[in-house]
Amino acid sequence: MSHTIQAVRGMNDILPGDAHFWEFFETTVVDWLKSYGYRAIRLPIVESTDLFVRSIGEVTDIVEKEMYTFIDALNGESLTLRPEGTAGCARAVMQHNLSYNAPQRLYYMGPMFRHERPQKGRYRQFHQVGVEAFGFPGPDMDVEHIVMTSRLWKRLGLTDVRLQINTLGDSAARRRHRQKLVRYLERRVEQLDEDAKRRLHANPLRILDSKNPAMQEMIESAPRLMDDLEEDALRHFEQLQQSLREAEIECEINPRLVRGLDYYNFTVFEWVTDRLGAQGTVCAGGRYDGLLAQLGGKPAPACGFAMGVERLLALMAAQQVTAPSPPADVYLAHQGAVADRFALHAAERLRDHGIQVIYHCGGGGFKSQMKKADHSGARYAIILGDDEAARNMLTLKPLRELGEQAQLSLEEAIDVLSSPAPGNSAAS
Ligand code: ATP
Ligand code: MG
Repeated sequence: MSHTIQAVRGMNDILPGDAHFWEFFETTVVDWLKSYGYRAIRLPIVESTDLFVRSIGEVTDIVEKEMYTFIDALNGESLTLRPEGTAGCARAVMQHNLSYNAPQRLYYMGPMFRHERPQKGRYRQFHQVGVEAFGFPGPDMDVEHIVMTSRLWKRLGLTDVRLQINTLGDSAARRRHRQKLVRYLERRVEQLDEDAKRRLHANPLRILDSKNPAMQEMIESAPRLMDDLEEDALRHFEQLQQSLREAEIECEINPRLVRGLDYYNFTVFEWVTDRLGAQGTVCAGGRYDGLLAQLGGKPAPACGFAMGVERLLALMAAQQVTAPSPPADVYLAHQGAVADRFALHAAERLRDHGIQVIYHCGGGGFKSQMKKADHSGARYAIILGDDEAARNMLTLKPLRELGEQAQLSLEEAIDVLSSPAPGNSAAS
């Protein structure tokens, strides 16, 4: 039996009706990133599996159960579709010695892949905009990242997003805290769910991040990492908060914020909203000073964040943010051998002047062509028959505004169409 092929579950098409919204988002984001001096880096979608295991950490949701890993049948290598961008970005920075001479402010955007249960705001192919800074010990850079995201929300017209911050200290403090935490949890082992039991010795810090309501009370009274932090971690955190106050950015300290990736230290933060149900985190990041060394490179301080594009677009839609989607300027209808030739030339001449032209393809009479012109949303139609073409003239007809159609030369039409006020009618 034949069946039609469907997209892979959890991997979405972005259709033309939505794509302009994506483009609006992307151009706004690129413009915003450039205003902070960030430069693009484009990275492969496939990396060696090892990279993610060593960076994200073996006992994390992502590495344990969400990665699309496969053996390259041609050479036996284990490869993985990237579940996030930081690891690949750090790899590229090391491989090409990018931060050797100067610190780097970088960004990338594109699809990420995680084998999760698809639901609203959670997909198997989703998109992130990632920002990473290498070579800055902070906390000024941590502050820059938070300040810049706050500006982006304003530019996108988003209001209901709240900032949560926390500090994870350095690895020595986390080790001390871990011992206390494990002791605390071991005494309450009967209250732990399956996931937590598995993590008890492998990654106990992650238990604090559990959303299981049955464990919340126990998590609330668990020993706090904050109490084990050293002077420098506390100072870093204090300076971060001080700068955020000065920048008038409100934040909430969430001592349970640990993030799902093992490479973080010191600052971690999330921007969350209540408008998207359970999938409320739209942006998350922090500092990962140990990652480059952990991957075998020269140590360098680093921090960054990633935004979930689908969630931000959903939030924009929920807040009735609309994206401008200007239609083409002209639909060019033509009929007859002389007209067809002239039309092809005229369309290119119009485009030379920055005018957007939909050139009618597929033949047919003027009546059906004009229907298509109307349907296209174009502001004007140009109508070209053999008689007019022979006289080097055309008919310009406004489709969206009042006004008479007019017979013009191509030069006159270019003048009308490239005049800055689109409201002007072609009629003279
Ligand atoms: P969550 O707690 O929602 O699973 P996470 O901690 O796994 O998020 P990160 O790895 O920090 O997420 O990714 C950064 C952002 O990317 C998230 O805040 C979210 O906006 C988005 N994101 C992560 N996973 C998905 C997914 N499966 N589908 C859509 N967006 C996602
Ligand atoms: Mg996740």
